[in-house]
Amino acid sequence: MTQSQPDQRIKELRALIDKYSYEYHVNDSPSVDDAVYDSLFGELKQLEAQYPELVASDSPTQRVGNELKDGFQKVAHSSRMLSLNDVFDREAVESWVTRMDKLLPGRTHEFFVDVKMDGLACAVIYQDGVLVQAVTRGDSYVGEDVTNNVRTIKNIPLRLHAADGYESFLQGRTEIRGEIVMLKKDFNALNEKRKAAGDPAFANPRNLAAGTIRQLDPKLVAARPLHFRAYDLLRDDPDEIPTSMFAYETVSALGLTRNIEAAVYKRLSDVMKFVDYIGEVRGNLPFNTDGLVIKVNNRAQYRELGIVGKQPRAAVAYKYAAEQATTIVKDIVISIGRTGAATPVAVFDPVVVAGTTVQHASLHNADEIERKDIRIGDTAVIFKAGDIIPQVESVVKELRPADAKPFDYLAALKQQYPELEFERTGKDVVYRVKGASSDLMLKRSIEYYASKGALDIDTLGEKNVVALVDAGLVKDTADIYTLTVSDLLKLDRFADISAKKLVNAISEKKNPPLEKFILGLGIRHVGAQTAIDLANTFESVEKLQRTRIEQLEDVDGVGKVVAESIVAWFSDPDNIALIEKFNKVGVRPFYKKKSGKLVGQRFVVTGSLESMSRDQAADKIRALGGVFQTSVAKDTTYLVAGGKVGASKLKKAESYGTKIITEQEFKQLLG
Ligand code: NAD
Repeated sequence: MTQSQPDQRIKELRALIDKYSYEYHVNDSPSVDDAVYDSLFGELKQLEAQYPELVASDSPTQRVGNELKDGFQKVAHSSRMLSLNDVFDREAVESWVTRMDKLLPGRTHEFFVDVKMDGLACAVIYQDGVLVQAVTRGDSYVGEDVTNNVRTIKNIPLRLHAADGYESFLQGRTEIRGEIVMLKKDFNALNEKRKAAGDPAFANPRNLAAGTIRQLDPKLVAARPLHFRAYDLLRDDPDEIPTSMFAYETVSALGLTRNIEAAVYKRLSDVMKFVDYIGEVRGNLPFNTDGLVIKVNNRAQYRELGIVGKQPRAAVAYKYAAEQATTIVKDIVISIGRTGAATPVAVFDPVVVAGTTVQHASLHNADEIERKDIRIGDTAVIFKAGDIIPQVESVVKELRPADAKPFDYLAALKQQYPELEFERTGKDVVYRVKGASSDLMLKRSIEYYASKGALDIDTLGEKNVVALVDAGLVKDTADIYTLTVSDLLKLDRFADISAKKLVNAISEKKNPPLEKFILGLGIRHVGAQTAIDLANTFESVEKLQRTRIEQLEDVDGVGKVVAESIVAWFSDPDNIALIEKFNKVGVRPFYKKKSGKLVGQRFVVTGSLESMSRDQAADKIRALGGVFQTSVAKDTTYLVAGGKVGASKLKKAESYGTKIITEQEFKQLLG
């Protein structure tokens, strides 16, 4: 598999993130969706946490914003304008609170929450109540003086309003920080006008707002309606502002606009209710938002908690589940579906998209792979189509490993299915098993499901299966459970007794042992032993279905090929539907927890035993709850030496601490 080393990956991620950041912050013209940027940034952060020795001071994780644009006066901020740490779910919010509790033990926090506006941060400074300066966030320490442009923003008062009880804020220096946005309605109206004039439409309100405020010509700025919403208030004496809520009330009294949604909660559960509520209504807000800001309300506590890196400890940005994310294509496996169609499936490093973990996606067909030029080792942009089925939107070519080759579909088919022949007929974009029809594939699947090794359904042999499928009585394997005696009596093959017998035999197998059911699904590379091992490890079909490749590979005897085959099988929509249908028709595989004196012990038998065959030994071990393994692994408890043990096996067993026992000792263990 093609995959770069961590140091190499970190280097490439930094370069790409710097490029995206420059396009976004300096040129106000991003080339990728924010979710893609956030995802790559998240990967970089995670790699740096994993390899702290690779953290560098010039890493984008250590910086806020980006370089300043020429043409504006640079102004140092009275205090840093920081960015916020992202959290994506309730657990992350909880661990944030836990971290604060550790730093300030025994103190209660009140949470201040507000909608996070998607615009650009700006500090507006008033001296004795008069607007004197406006500065962009810049690199957090130093921003650009955009005073003339900010003066054109109609909802920023040039002189603070005098309100009862707030007179002191009209004395001395009052700094109001907030977000400059373009309201959705203004953005749309502007674009309508441009369209009518034959000009290209602007891409999004955030970048238009950022681009506008950094125009050198204030007349042009005045022609584009910007809007300001305050979220912070600073005074020389910080104790004048005891809480964030007080700051909000004050800025309102002084004549500025702020979000009326902002609220204070004592309990985290109420904060989460607010998160859910805004999640529902955020589409109707007048500006774009990607989440919420949650802060400690008490400002003294806020200050006490301090800063780590470029973020305050006392606040987080709660981001709603992104519809896009990036991840690495680890492999492309081909799954043969119900109709004999060969469908390529991309296998990923697990990634959360729109709230659920994704580790594979159908790539549909060879043409699609070629069109999107998806290669093993690529970093792919994943999105959810119709919010359910994950799809690859594109790949990030800049992060492609140097040795990633175009995917050779036919070679992969040959390699993964050496025993089969495939064809593509007429206009069909899909390769199918040569000569396969959906009926033929279905007959084989049912026969296999009903066979002795699997469900062992009496009298459901080849001839009956053929008759049932040809008569159209079953369209998938689960349909056999819906057959009735009168259905069968319509066929020449059945008389009263034989029909009843078959219906009974099928219904008797509604509660099969889990391992038999898994085997009966006919997943490629999953034989009887693997089915047993999977059943013992996962204990239900649902768990097996949700399992990650890494967990599968931990199962004894399951390597990469088998693991990927299982994942590919469960990613096929036909198979997902089949599993649901089995459930609907009342099939409930059961798993009985193993008991017996060999539970937790793992055996390998080498050479031939005198008193029993290897298969008999395996049966006895399993009957007593033990695990029979085919080769010595790290977790093998005993190596039963029938005859001489080869030197390499001995060495391996010794290195793993596996006990080597004779046949006699083995028999004593069996009792
Ligand atoms: P952040 O996510 O760190 O959030 C902090 C900012 O939130 C504050 O500076 C403030 O301006 C703003 N904010 C809005 N409403 C607020 C409120 N009610 N209270 C307090 N603060 C509020 O933001 P960031 O550091 O500006 O930048 C990261 C963002 O930029 C990410 O969303 C990222 O996706 C985007 N980005 C995108 C690209 C791209 O190529 N698409 C590149 C770089 C950055």
